[in-house]
Amino acid sequence: MATNIPYIELANGVTIPQVGLGVFRMDDKEVANSVKWALESGYRHIDTASFYDNEEAVGKAIKDFGIDRKYLFITTKIWNNIRRYDETIEQFNRSLQKLNTDYLDLYLIHWPAAGFEENWRAMEDLYKQGKIKAIGVSNFKAHHIEQLMKSATIAPMIDQIETHPYLQENDLHKYLKEHHIVHESWSPLGGGVNKVIDDPVIKEIAQNHQKSPAQIILRWHIQRGEVIIPKSTHEKRIQENIQLFNYHFHLSSEEMNQIAQLDSNKRVGADPDDEKFLKDSTTYATQND
Ligand code: NAP
Repeated sequence: MATNIPYIELANGVTIPQVGLGVFRMDDKEVANSVKWALESGYRHIDTASFYDNEEAVGKAIKDFGIDRKYLFITTKIWNNIRRYDETIEQFNRSLQKLNTDYLDLYLIHWPAAGFEENWRAMEDLYKQGKIKAIGVSNFKAHHIEQLMKSATIAPMIDQIETHPYLQENDLHKYLKEHHIVHESWSPLGGGVNKVIDDPVIKEIAQNHQKSPAQIILRWHIQRGEVIIPKSTHEKRIQENIQLFNYHFHLSSEEMNQIAQLDSNKRVGADPDDEKFLKDSTTYATQND
């Protein structure tokens, strides 16, 4: 199926499809189905992580679909327990093997756990060798990026951070833009944890556009220039989540402002400054509001 998903250019000229499929908390069977439906619908970008324990299933689903690797954008991430240079290279090779590929489009440091400078040193070398097309970080606040840049020779091209209408991260968004780092949003729909999808403001805008609340939220991200990776295990929703680029579907500045008013600085995941989480994280902290 032809896709009209736009590509965003990163600082090094590599382009990334603005919408991808996130596969967090999917088991192997769900990955098999969801990746197949996504590729059939026109997705060309998949976001996984070694922590999700489903890289192998992602690799298999892509292989089974039979698409040429060059048309895909694959992201994975390195987890907090691996910080040393040599361990980073080993973990990278394990991820490649599981994903059944010989290069990554994007490799991210999953969280700013202490010692991330060593991950970055290894990632810079892998990047220079052409084994990774773009390198970036995730859950980095501006001060983490400043810390990284004291020893880095290459700046991150992406920062993947929790963002949705209840956590808009406007200051960080501005900082990233000023530093030519693309803002990628995780839990763009609130992760199924908060109720942003049921917010009356979102619902009313959805009704006016004859779109679903999810599509209104995703379109709001798109108009802010973010890359988004909504996750779903349902075929209809996977399709719905890329139906955002119709010529007639545009949120007015008044609607963008209405959504801007919903910001309440409420996270669904851990705070990147939560030292306890960064040190002990064998699982994600999920806050229920
Ligand atoms: P999300 O994409 O914001 O939301 C997923 C939830 O919304 C699921 O419960 C899903 O249910 C539901 N949903 C999806 N499409 C829908 C639609 N059209 N209508 C109604 N409900 C819909 O949450 P997320 O999975 O937390 O985040 C997305 C991706 O970001 C992850 O999969 C992962 O790749 C990445 N991520 C990264 C980090 C990080 O630290 N870097 C952290 C978390 C997530 P169904 O599945 O039942 O459809």
